[in-house]
Amino acid sequence: MAQIELDGINRIFQLGDSQVHALRDVSLRIEAGEYVAVMGPSGSGKSTLLNLLGLLDRPNAGHYRLEGRDVTTLSADEQAAVRSARIGFVFQSFHLVPRLTAAENVALPLMLAGIPPQERTSRVTQALKDFGLEPRAHHRPDELSGGQRPRVAIARATIMRPAMLLADEPTGNLDRATGHEVTALLEALNAAGTTLIVVTHDPAMGARARRRILMEDGAIRQDQRAAAAAPEAPDAVSAPPPR
Ligand code: ADP
Ligand code: MG
Repeated sequence: MAQIELDGINRIFQLGDSQVHALRDVSLRIEAGEYVAVMGPSGSGKSTLLNLLGLLDRPNAGHYRLEGRDVTTLSADEQAAVRSARIGFVFQSFHLVPRLTAAENVALPLMLAGIPPQERTSRVTQALKDFGLEPRAHHRPDELSGGQRPRVAIARATIMRPAMLLADEPTGNLDRATGHEVTALLEALNAAGTTLIVVTHDPAMGARARRRILMEDGAIRQDQRAAAAAPEAPDAVSAPPPR
């Protein structure tokens, strides 16, 4: 049983009189622990696919089995529970809550999951430490640097220790150095066992993923796995990019 099994997924958006067929008969298997880059031109259905995988949206047709369980037919509350326990999501603009501190943003998923305050505090403290954010714990997003904000977003996405991490163009708005840092953080989580599925326009990140899915016009055009060649040096990501 694959961790993710999509069968005949279709997603159609109604726009007035016209319909947008955002996903057409998408079938896909992803195993636990994979590192998948989803690529393709703008409008090809990448975000729609990621939102469905993250249970933020429902297909018009087809089935999604997550860890063997059909999640397409669950109620909204049941889906929210699965999302909370199993799925972390990192958005391009990070969606931090502006009036909450870094610590409060990271604590949000724990609060929603009903984790008691004492455990919440200790887990948030540890996460802030892990992501080098301890000195920034009580600062709001607008008081954080461009490099700290994505770290808060990733800490928040992983505080529930999800089985899979979904990221929609996480490096899209970042300068090169910060983008590399975010890539390294996501890859470290993948190396520790979390399934990583990243929508990216960045060919370098696509090349680093062990599997590349190319979307075109709502369908999967290519699904390539990297040869099991010698792994790159683990610190390759922090090396300066070639010019
Ligand atoms: P990508 O992420 O690859 O750029 P999307 O998945 O966002 O593409 O969009 C795929 C297609 O579906 C596009 O034509 C887009 O305009 C359309 N679409 C996406 N979300 C919606 C929506 N909520 N309502 C209407 N159309 C949408
Ligand atoms: Mg998109």
